Amino acid sequence: MREGDRSFFKEPIIVMRERRLRVAIDGPAGAGKSSVARAVARKLGYTYLDTGAMYRAVALIAVQRGIPLDDPAALGEMARSLHITACEEDGVFRVWVDGVELTHRLRDPGTDKAVKFLAMHRPVREVLVEIQRSLAREGSVVMEGRDITSVVLPDAEVKVFLTADVRERARRRWQELQLKGVKISWEEVLEELIQRDRKDLERDWGKLVRVPDAVLVDTTGKTQDEAVAEILRLCEEKKIALRSH
Ligand code: C5P
Repeated sequence: MREGDRSFFKEPIIVMRERRLRVAIDGPAGAGKSSVARAVARKLGYTYLDTGAMYRAVALIAVQRGIPLDDPAALGEMARSLHITACEEDGVFRVWVDGVELTHRLRDPGTDKAVKFLAMHRPVREVLVEIQRSLAREGSVVMEGRDITSVVLPDAEVKVFLTADVRERARRRWQELQLKGVKISWEEVLEELIQRDRKDLERDWGKLVRVPDAVLVDTTGKTQDEAVAEILRLCEEKKIALRSH
């Protein structure tokens, strides 16, 4: 390039590409993870991933095929043989197994019962963790579950432990079920949540833990919007910190 050539004096164009974050959210059942994570993803224009729905899909297939829920090897082998795909479409998190959509059956009472036993087994968890990591490879994701901050994405840029008092979680879930016309007492819902918490806390691998660098967001007495705003603020802070590095 010769002097005198106009382009010689041109300022270089600096493209500031925004860093794609991985937002990992863990917490117990009924803490509001799904609605909060979905709203955060929408605000950021990110992909939302509900890992519980994937465990539910595998549990549904295990029940359909009559595979004993206390046989880790058989369940792991079955999970590995499945082609599982998942994404949010029209505001619904959808899951397909071997090309068949299972979305509307994921919260059937049978699946609900089976999933907590299925999720105990490491061979099953390893298959799903692999799929979940590959879905998050590109970044720009908000992924929620129980072991996202600890096992699936331990190096996520933003980590949150979202929780609420168990009685408040039971009240919220009971209200949801009332709206759906399900006849169940608040005490039964509370008991079910306590059992689910116990199962999530007692497995050897991928149990529910708050990792030291996860920010605690306690939604007891808070609105969904307040919890969402808190997480968005963490994301903004992270983006600023990454820009200055
Ligand atoms: O979040 P959700 O209640 O739909 O999860 C369904 C089941 O899957 C729960 O019993 C939970 O223990 C299990 N799960 C898990 N690990 C995850 C997500 C969900 O073990 N990452």
